[in-house]
Amino acid sequence: MRQVVVIGAGQAGASLVTRLRTKGFDGGITLIGEEPVPPYQRPPLSKAYLLGEMEEARLYLRPEAFYAEHDIALRMGRPVTGIDRAARQVMLDGETLPYDELVLTTGSRPRALPAAIGGDLEGVFVVRTLADVDAMAPRFTAGARALIVGGGYIGLEAAAVAAKLGLQVTLIEMADRILQRVAAPETSDYFRELHRARGVDIREGVGLTRLTGDGAVTAAELSDGSTLPVDFVIAGVGIQPDTALAEAAGLKIENGIKTDARGRTSDPHIWAAGDCASFPWRDGRIRLESVGNAIDQAECVADNIMGADQPYVAKPWFWSDQYDTKLQIAGLNTGYDRIVVRQDGAALSHWYYAGDTLLALDAMNDSRAYMVGKRLIEMGKSPAPEAVADPATNLKALLKA
Ligand code: FAD
Repeated sequence: MRQVVVIGAGQAGASLVTRLRTKGFDGGITLIGEEPVPPYQRPPLSKAYLLGEMEEARLYLRPEAFYAEHDIALRMGRPVTGIDRAARQVMLDGETLPYDELVLTTGSRPRALPAAIGGDLEGVFVVRTLADVDAMAPRFTAGARALIVGGGYIGLEAAAVAAKLGLQVTLIEMADRILQRVAAPETSDYFRELHRARGVDIREGVGLTRLTGDGAVTAAELSDGSTLPVDFVIAGVGIQPDTALAEAAGLKIENGIKTDARGRTSDPHIWAAGDCASFPWRDGRIRLESVGNAIDQAECVADNIMGADQPYVAKPWFWSDQYDTKLQIAGLNTGYDRIVVRQDGAALSHWYYAGDTLLALDAMNDSRAYMVGKRLIEMGKSPAPEAVADPATNLKALLKA
């Protein structure tokens, strides 16, 4: 019987094994994860779950019984320590498992603050796993002083939860502005104002020099020379693809585990999908860190394991929830030279163009603009910027133009 082994029981791993079974794969399937719990969704960790508005049970992608019912062997709390490509087997503690096809869905790991600047003090947290969030949640009490390091989506979402729960929140961002890596200045401006209106002290162009404390963190020294008393710290300073196993096995790495358009790595019996995988995109390569990508790419790899021989065509989308704002993003804005702003009452969207070509959009509380923009980008259509900017334009009509 053909054996598929999947390493990494997160969003991509769960999507892949589910797809294999629902498409009729009749071989053996084993899903191995180092976390002690079945696959769950991460987005609520920095949103509703941290806020205490979502129960743990609702995080799980499927009830545990689903896997048994579909003859999917789940091995939880079991880190894979090595891959023997010649023998086609993977090593767990004290056990080896043979495979015919192996899939790496190992995701990514958060960058930690270096121990040399106090990153190992008690009270310094990252936001990646359920265990991370369960460890920090008791600190979210009204009046506590929280320092968030990093003004990307994870840091801003954590800041929003903390502010909503009545904490005193300072967020520092080393770059000139929050969201600099991922969004236009117009979008940064929107979220800066949103947070400042809720009392979050956002300091841009300010880095962390060191954290101090006797065992537990009590203060932060900042690059502008100021010192801040803190009760706890959250580092939201980015993630790195988890390529450790792939590297040790000698697979090609290029900003993630290098795959071809079908999801195959440099070993024809090993595939990769999700946060850990870099794949061909336009004239280069790309790696995406999103739920949508993890699902779509994993499903494409499952189909290819079953012989579909289909290239993966990414349709990037992302979202973030902060206070009452739902941000929805479609497309990739890399290379944009112009922002078109559309405002219709409280609904606001920023459309990224390169010349006359629509690349992406950020929609703030404007799901209509998001849906139409996403569709336009997927269809390769670029409406005239003047039409987009005019709130009187019926957006849906742009799809037919
Ligand atoms: P993961 O979900 O990280 O799963 C990888 C798994 O592999 C992990 O459980 C890891 O423990 C395991 N693993 C690694 N190495 C081994 C090994 N050697 N042996 C066994 N197991 C191993 N995306 C959005 O689109 N929208 C959002 O709003 C959003 N919010 C987010 C909020 C938070 C707090 C976080 C952390 C992420 C968020 N994301 C969001 C990103 C999204 O969750 C990820 O892109 C997605 O989870 C990637 O799925 P994955 O399966 O590739 O990786």
